Amino acid sequence: MRKADYLIIGQGIAGTMLSWHLLQAGKKVIVIDDAKPNSASRVAAGIINPVSGRRFEPAWMYDQIYPVAKNTYQQLSDLLQVPVFTERALWTVFPSAQMRDAFLTKTTGNEYTELPAALKYETFLDQPYGAAVVNGATVNLRFLLPAYRRYLQVQEALLETHLDVNALEISPEKVIYKDITADKIIFCDGVGTTALPFFKEIKFLPNKGEVLLVKIPGLETADIIKKGITLVPQENGLFWAGSSFVWDYENDLPTAKQREVLEKSLAQLLKAPYEVVEQLSAVRPSGNDRRPIVGFHPSFPAIGLFNGLGTKGCSLAPFMAAHFRDVLVADAPLMPEIDVQRYF
Ligand SMILES: Cc1cc2nc3c(=O)[nH]c(=O)nc-3n(C[C@H](O)[C@H](O)[C@H](O)COP(=O)(O)OP(=O)(O)OC[C@H]3O[C@@H](n4cnc5c(N)ncnc54)[C@H](O)[C@@H]3O)c2cc1C
Repeated sequence: MRKADYLIIGQGIAGTMLSWHLLQAGKKVIVIDDAKPNSASRVAAGIINPVSGRRFEPAWMYDQIYPVAKNTYQQLSDLLQVPVFTERALWTVFPSAQMRDAFLTKTTGNEYTELPAALKYETFLDQPYGAAVVNGATVNLRFLLPAYRRYLQVQEALLETHLDVNALEISPEKVIYKDITADKIIFCDGVGTTALPFFKEIKFLPNKGEVLLVKIPGLETADIIKKGITLVPQENGLFWAGSSFVWDYENDLPTAKQREVLEKSLAQLLKAPYEVVEQLSAVRPSGNDRRPIVGFHPSFPAIGLFNGLGTKGCSLAPFMAAHFRDVLVADAPLMPEIDVQRYF
């Protein structure tokens, strides 16, 4: 029998962050991940944005979560020797005069935003109402996830397989899965949780996002550019252009309809030609109240959940994983706003 303190299911950003914080606390973890190519974390752009939504409200708990995110990603960058974290400007193009006024009202005096002295990108962008600069960041998930996976492999802490939920034996004090015994199993399986028998009470509102990878000849920048659609520079000279939100979908694959929607948004932003190289899609694991969903099953305390990261996995995961580690290893009280008990 292999023994672990925690059996973690999923190595998206949730499982990566939780396993990392638990390993740092000296715990033994085994991570099981089936490497789904279009999981949310593998398709996401990794943007960390201090303002959210169309109304430019400050993002929830941003002042607390951002320093933890920055510190954790920098630690992992040093450990794994890959560039994980980049602070970047979000060049936010106003789509209308009203949106510009809303932005100015909501963010005047806000340390994360400023108005540029002059407009940039005039040959590429259609920006009659001007633009603002928002100081955010990106997490390079395409580097972080595989590099951390190799780290887990070296620690003999990764099983690359699909968890067969029917093979789990759960008792109040422990979990047995084939030849593994652990004190707790923690599901970090993103939208996979919606198919589990344990958490049917949770009101998930999973939503699908589609993305284009595009070439924009001549456009060279480290900024994120945003106006309805968001352009994020990639390491290979391409731009990640996304993303759509669809609540009613047949499957998690790319569609012609969303390609059309994305291309329409690109046409509204760009004056310059572009070429689509690839289309990607994935489903975001969101709860109905858009808060993380963390904690323990009320009847099976050996089953835990770290989920519901919605549209903000990269900014939320490091802080929430560190908090959940404190709950798991130091009996800290779980924040009620994120406690899965709210659904039971
Ligand atoms: C198009 C799009 C753009 C996005 N852009 C951003 C962004 O810019 N910034 C941001 O912060 N967030 C963004 N998000 C949201 C972000 O992707 C999610 O919040 C985050 O990835 C959720 O991470 P997770 O680890 O909970 O789930 P996932 O990333 O879905 O990871 C779950 C993992 O579990 C594995 N798994 C599932 N079931 C099993 C099983 N039974 N056995 C073994 N393994 C299993 C999967 O292979 C996967 O690796 C975006 C999402 C989408 C779809």
